[in-house]
Amino acid sequence: MNEKYDVVVIGAGAAGMMSAIEAGKRGRKTLLIDHSKKIGEKIRISGGGRCNFTNINTSPSKYISNNPSFIISALSQYNQENFIDLVKKYKIKFHEKKLGQLFCDSSAQEIIDMLLNECQLANVILKVDTKVLKINYKDKIFIIRDNLNTYLSSSLIIATGGLSVPKIGASKFGYDVAKQFNINVIDTVPALVPLTFNEKILNKCKLLAGVSANAVISLKKTFFEEGMLFTHRGLSGPSILQISSYWKEGDSINIDLCPEKNIFNLLLEKRNIFPKQNINTIINYFLAKRLATLICEENQITGNIGELSNKNIKKLADSINNWIVHPTGTEGYRTAEVTLGGVDTNELSSKTMMSKKYPGLFFIGEVVDVTGHLGGYNFQWAWSSGYIAGQYA
Ligand SMILES: Cc1cc2nc3c(=O)[nH]c(=O)nc-3n(C[C@H](O)[C@H](O)[C@H](O)COP(=O)(O)OP(=O)(O)OC[C@H]3O[C@@H](n4cnc5c(N)ncnc54)[C@H](O)[C@@H]3O)c2cc1C
Repeated sequence: MNEKYDVVVIGAGAAGMMSAIEAGKRGRKTLLIDHSKKIGEKIRISGGGRCNFTNINTSPSKYISNNPSFIISALSQYNQENFIDLVKKYKIKFHEKKLGQLFCDSSAQEIIDMLLNECQLANVILKVDTKVLKINYKDKIFIIRDNLNTYLSSSLIIATGGLSVPKIGASKFGYDVAKQFNINVIDTVPALVPLTFNEKILNKCKLLAGVSANAVISLKKTFFEEGMLFTHRGLSGPSILQISSYWKEGDSINIDLCPEKNIFNLLLEKRNIFPKQNINTIINYFLAKRLATLICEENQITGNIGELSNKNIKKLADSINNWIVHPTGTEGYRTAEVTLGGVDTNELSSKTMMSKKYPGLFFIGEVVDVTGHLGGYNFQWAWSSGYIAGQYA
């Protein structure tokens, strides 16, 4: 059976729902399709179940893309304040956890319910558990087929997300559609993902499991200071996830376990003033006890600080202020929060998210080569890009 629509959106995640709501509000007859039985699954599991739905510090500098200025237009048309207003309209209680990150007080489900209600108010027709088998394009009309129906539409919005967490519905569908329409796709890699480490580091991490440090982790000119944790699986925590988005095979990362202090200068000072003090005790002033002991043991440095050579003091200081680690890889899409790369932004209008080659074809959200830092920036991109596509589809 043929069904006619003004707009068909494929993918009912954050970006897809937002675009369908906006298109529907403009009076466009809008169909929203998802292959999963349950929609908004990423929203549901996000932020530990409380959805870090935006960040008050959202700005283009918080995003990675081959074309960083692409993001400016979407954020200027729909920003964090606009989404916060929507959340407030629904009286959803939220709080700032840290660094501008806004979380629901109660549950991520409130955000899903809000979006579903907005879809209903905008007369969006929702079809779940629906697998799109084929898309054709003829006489400026998109012909979309599932196993039962054919949908005809002058606008088609692809919002099928990236490859992260296939277990809850991620697929390469969006990239395949781009390729079908001869639209370039930038190579994809998992991002905001735990890094993996060699046996030596793993053993160290196992001994230190549970210890945290307010470390600064850097890679070339990029650095993050957001906490790091030693776990049985290696190094973890927000700083590691953040740097993973910049890490490439072969790169080493620098970890400063005590960024507020220059340990070399401090130890030289201590050697002059308290030469009889035990080195392990001194290091323990700056680092957790288990970490301090392990660093002294690894460097085979014991005894009183007065007996230590400059060379040994430098060795110790480097293990603290400039620990160089060579990750062996990442855990991949299974645990990645997002996908780096995607539909090339040079193929899209930054004002509308529409394809420059195929008027009426839009790509939004994570499927596009725009990736946010950790902290609510990825959802904000989904809301902003979804909003603008909904204005023009
Ligand atoms: C564990 C986890 C926690 C996260 N926490 C946060 C957070 O707190 N804050 C934040 O900003 N970001 C967070 N993110 C990232 C955020 O979830 C994504 O950036 C965001 O969901 C992307 O939105 P999207 O609409 O583009 O894609 P998605 O939300 O992935 O939605 C894509 C939709 O398309 C559907 N789909 C896929 N393939 C097909 C197909 N072939 N046919 C039909 N439908 C299809 C999927 O079922 C899905 O419903 C987290 C991610 C993960 C994995």
